Amino acid sequence: MKLKIAIQKSGRLHEDSIKLLKECGIDINNGVNKLKTEATNFPLEVFFLRDDDIPQYIEDGVADIGVVGENVVLEKKKQVRVVEKLGFGKCRLSMAVPKAMDYNNVKDLHNLKIATSYPVILGDFLKNNGVTADIHEISGSVEIAPGIGLAAAICDLVSSGSTLFMNGLKEVETVLKSEAVLIANEGLQEAQQLLLQKLLFRIQAVRKAKN
Ligand code: ATP
Ligand code: ZN
Repeated sequence: MKLKIAIQKSGRLHEDSIKLLKECGIDINNGVNKLKTEATNFPLEVFFLRDDDIPQYIEDGVADIGVVGENVVLEKKKQVRVVEKLGFGKCRLSMAVPKAMDYNNVKDLHNLKIATSYPVILGDFLKNNGVTADIHEISGSVEIAPGIGLAAAICDLVSSGSTLFMNGLKEVETVLKSEAVLIANEGLQEAQQLLLQKLLFRIQAVRKAKN
């Protein structure tokens, strides 16, 4: 019996996810371009996937647990259990507008066309603030949308803000603060649940040692 974990195949969470397993004393054969691998000293099978697909795979039980940004968990609205915050992949989902725009508060977004890869989270944010706007979903390069006349504002992930600045934008609202989290299938079998407890115990020890 093995525990199956899904982590990002490549991208911002990949290295830190592997590192976390390593710090937990778990050795994996990290072959190049593989879709899955196994740990040599823990009953763990590792799947490498696109981060956007991970919540669905966990809900479906294809993998038992996964590492993904809270932003993705909230956007996908899948039935998964958030088990633990992991302390890496920190970023925020922010509203940004052209530097020259006279922006005072969230009401200034009323009736604007807003480009984002997070239509669900943005929709909730606007609704909670009593603002109606035209959400335009795009999958990448959101920060160039105002410059090419596609949208008047954007809602995108930010860590330092330098990408926004380079594109003539300013950050005006924080919609969500996010970091990587461990998520789990809601109906784990007893054996998997025990393995998760064992892994979680190690993760918490690693995190405590860092604080
Ligand atoms: P994939 O190919 O797996 O779909 P991606 O391009 O969607 O990858 P990445 O850019 O690698 O995703 O980001 C993965 C996660 O890293 C984000 O969902 C977010 O939780 C986190 N993250 C941390 N800092 C940033 C940042 N500055 N910009 C974007 N994402 C960030
Ligand atoms: Zn993605």
